[in-house]
Amino acid sequence: MNSEQLELTIGWLYPTLMSTYGDRGNVICLQQRTQRRGIRVNVIPLDQQTPAEQFYKVDIFMGGGAQDRQQEIVMRDLQGSKANALQEKIEGGTPGVFTCGSPQLLGHYYEPALGKRIQGLGLLDLVSKHPGVDARRCIGNVVFEITASPLAQDLKAMLGKNPVVIGFENHGGRTYLGNVEPLAQVVKGYGNNGEDGTEGAFYRNAIATYSHGPLLPKNPFLADWLIQTALKQKYHIPVSLEPLDDTLATKARVAMFQRLSLTNLS
Ligand code: GLN
Repeated sequence: MNSEQLELTIGWLYPTLMSTYGDRGNVICLQQRTQRRGIRVNVIPLDQQTPAEQFYKVDIFMGGGAQDRQQEIVMRDLQGSKANALQEKIEGGTPGVFTCGSPQLLGHYYEPALGKRIQGLGLLDLVSKHPGVDARRCIGNVVFEITASPLAQDLKAMLGKNPVVIGFENHGGRTYLGNVEPLAQVVKGYGNNGEDGTEGAFYRNAIATYSHGPLLPKNPFLADWLIQTALKQKYHIPVSLEPLDDTLATKARVAMFQRLSLTNLS
């Protein structure tokens, strides 16, 4: 099969309600890196106007962050057939990145700073709680090493070294994992809760993380892993993607590592 015969559909969850702190950048990066390999790509919004059937067409899910109020609106809309479709897809191995507010909704519940507990979809065994309006937000650059299996092994094979991610976090909620694997171990920053050193979660091929929109542009190997995994899932063929010129991403990473006094990781 040559690349022109391949096509991927990116499903972007609630682009207007859930896209804080540059999360749109993740979608653009994924779209560009797919197109540059000559693979056709569609980006479809999954929002209040979208029928649940559309969810079944998705090859890669992208879900961004949101403020507490927007999360409540999204949760109300997702309940029922859309939630079932999302669950079936994730359980079936469709890859995706769910950032900040999105994983809070995929867990059992999210307790906002003000107001009632928002019931989640329960797809991930985790809970999130905001300690209150006076509590310090977890804001800043975050660095973490991916440890979840088999993702860490796949990335190590791609990179020839341990996969270290540079991101940016901004959340009030703290996430506590149950019986789900953490995505990563925090090197710098807060991660899930600023206490236990874990960051995000990994389930089937779904990446849950507190890292926002620079995630894929600054760590392009993650974007390529998503594309490869989506192609394998859809076409059942081994795929190797031709390398792209990542000079700019590498420069940005080196600059960030220097700034964070972590030059040993660059
Ligand atoms: N409302 C959530 C929190 O503050 C999510 C924030 C976000 O997605 N950036 O934890």
